Order: sequence, then C-alpha cells, then structure tokens
Amino acid sequence: MKTGRIKAKNRTGLIFFPAYDWEISAFHPERKERLLYTHDQVIEEGLLDIEGISEFKAGIATDKDISRVHFCLPDIDSVITDSHRISAGGCIEAARLVLEKKVDRSFALVRPPGHHSMRVVHGCRGFCNINMEAIMVEWIRTNYPHIKKIVIVDTDCHHGDGTQDIFWHDPDILFISVHQDGRTLYPWSGFPEDLGGSGARGMTLNVPLPPGTTDDGFIYVAENLIRPILDEFKPDIVINSAGQDNHYSDPITDMQFTAGGYARLTEIVSPDICVLEGGYSIEMALPYINTGIILSLAGVDYSYLKEPDFRPDRFKQASVEMKYIAGLCDSMLNYWRKRQGIPLKKEGIVERRKTVRYDTDNIVDRQAEFKKMCDCPGVFRIETRASTGNSATCVHIPRGACESCRSQGIEWFDSAEGFDFVQMQDMDKDIFTSRKG
Ligand SMILES: [Zn+2]
Ligand SMILES: [Zn+2]
Ligand SMILES: [Zn+2]
Repeated sequence: MKTGRIKAKNRTGLIFFPAYDWEISAFHPERKERLLYTHDQVIEEGLLDIEGISEFKAGIATDKDISRVHFCLPDIDSVITDSHRISAGGCIEAARLVLEKKVDRSFALVRPPGHHSMRVVHGCRGFCNINMEAIMVEWIRTNYPHIKKIVIVDTDCHHGDGTQDIFWHDPDILFISVHQDGRTLYPWSGFPEDLGGSGARGMTLNVPLPPGTTDDGFIYVAENLIRPILDEFKPDIVINSAGQDNHYSDPITDMQFTAGGYARLTEIVSPDICVLEGGYSIEMALPYINTGIILSLAGVDYSYLKEPDFRPDRFKQASVEMKYIAGLCDSMLNYWRKRQGIPLKKEGIVERRKTVRYDTDNIVDRQAEFKKMCDCPGVFRIETRASTGNSATCVHIPRGACESCRSQGIEWFDSAEGFDFVQMQDMDKDIFTSRKG
C-alpha cells in the first residue's frame, strides 16, 4: 500500500516489547514470534510512515507499581522476570503518552500477557504472572488523581478472570469481558450472573459468547451493548485488553472472528489505550489483526486489510445464535441500567472463598476473603494458603476508605498470626507494607 501522504486522524503511539528472553517453553504457544511477525508486518505495511503513527520505548515497572495491585508471594522477584517488568512498564508508558497528550491513543504490543493474574500471585496461571492493565490503572489513578472512571473492555477470547478479581470490589472501574463461553474454554469462568462484589454490583459485566461466534456476533455486542454502556458511563479513560485469540485460525480457541472484524470492533469501542493479551495464530492472524487495530486506532482506512486466506461469507452466524447473543446483550444492558437500584449491604463482613488454580505452574491456592461493608468503599483482607507452602494475610485499604475502615485494615495487619507473611496495600497513602507472620 502507498502510505507516503496518509495522515492519521488520531496521533497513535506504539510500544513493542517482544520479550526475546522470556518463554514458558520453546514450543509453547506463548512465545516471542508472536510479536516478531507483527513488527515485520507493521514495517512492511509502512504503518510507521503514516504521519502521526510513531513508535516509543517501553519503561520498567518498579516494585511500587506492582505492589499497588499485587500481593506477590513470597516476594515480587520470586514470581516474575525482567520481561514482566518491561511488559508492565510498556503499558505504563502507553498510558503516560496519552495522559501527557503526546499522542491521542496508544497500543502496548507487549508480552508476557497479564489478564489471568489475580490480586494474590503465587506463580503463573494462563501464561500470566502479573496483571498489566491493572498495574497501568493503578499507576494512572496514583499519578492523575482527577481520573476516576476507567473502563476495561477485555476482548480476549478467554475470560479476564484476573482483572475481574482485582477490581471485583471497585466502584470506579467498570470491567466488561467478552469471551468464549466459560463452559467450553479455560479459565471456565465469566458468567452473566457474576456482576461484581456488593458495593460494586454491576461494575463487572461478563458476556460469554457461543463457540463459533463470527464478525456478526462480535459487532452486535460492540454496537448494542458496549457502545451504549460507554455512552452512559462517560469514562475518563477506556482501555482495551486486545487479545486476538478470537481469530478463526487461532489454534487454542474455537471462534470465527476476522482481522477486519477486530478493526471494526476497535472503531466502535474507541479505546484510548490498547494492550495486547493473547492470540496464538502467529503468522496467519496476529500481524493482520494488529495492523487492523493500529489503523483503526489511528483513524485510517482499514478496508483493504484481509488475511491471505480470507474469503467473504466463509463464516455465517446461525440465526439461533444471533438470537441468543441479542438476548444476552439485552439482559446485560438491563443489569447495567438497574445496578444503582440494587440495595447494598452497608455493614457487616462479606466472605468469599475460592480455590485458585495455577495451570501453568501447577499450584493450587485456597483463599478466604473478608470484606468489611461500609458507606465508604470498605476494606478487605485475603487469607491465602498455597500448595507451595506459602501462606499470607493480605490487607487492602482502598481509595476513599473512611477512618473506621482504615483502622480495621491496620488492626487486621497488626494482629494476623499463623501466616508466613502479612502484607498491606494502603491506596490513599500509596504505601505497601510487608512483615513476616
Ligand atoms: Zn475476554
Ligand atoms: Zn486468551
Ligand atoms: Zn468505611
């Protein structure tokens, strides 16, 4: 294509970090070639010759950036590598570029991915150790306190269970995950009835789609569910966890989405910042999808973009599935609109128990969470005991916690006994404290 005189409508910043030295194993689907082909394609297509599209360098996430989100056990360096710090640092840089108005939009094309990482981290699950989007969100809220309402739209084929877990109780972060039905795909979660903790009910929205969903189904969800919600919520920032494993050629999933479809989806959602998540069709899909997302972010025509084996009308959405998707969008929109009418618990402790499996690292963690309900965002502690032998009490005092909730958090931290570690995140003071149990 000729790009000599093309000008981007939106100045768009790209950050590439292929993590040459990080892999789960040599033939694992999560490997460096995922981004090498994309980088070649971006150069070959002349995207960097378009006026307004530029490449920037990733930074490095510090312990402080990571500890705002995660309780890493036994400590940060035991559960991540430098590649994870740069992947997260690339996302922070993507946010900085937009917030400093150096660009209008940005795309962190980084790996390792992060959306399966939960608040407590004992190792790697679903190829993820730390949550890139969550680290970026907390960096934004700390450094730009006027930014309050943030939406994360997760369009990876897998449920963003880590991001959901981290923001489950957060009344300011709206998390929308669109994914292949959890009855048919890892991580076997993300159902419409999972709507967020009491105190943030309706701020988590899960949209499980049937296997085989095509462009028609995805675009329907974007136009009839995501767009109206964004228009009503009026967020300060929209982040897209841009996983690309919904592609018809992806080897580990069962969807029938195309590169052109991804570009159209990006146009409808109009994210300020995109973060690459999954996508394992390394040669046949990723270079085309990423090119499509970049063109769409930049506001440049993407209609020519097609995979080498693309055939129009190859995938047709069955009308019974289309009906199901339309019904699902209706009921989710209904949950969203009624969320403020749901009476909230304002006192007492709400308990949540769960078993977290780390498929990649073969760890099982048993957690009990205790959330003190209040007029303010409350306070919670997580008791975690993993098959690694590590146990901890982890206290989270959220932004805007009242004096009574703050004292409760500090008392939990001071009095915890019988654990290897006791850790506390104090978000308003931006302090992370850790002691031996
Ligand atoms: Zn998803
Ligand atoms: Zn995925
Ligand atoms: Zn309170």
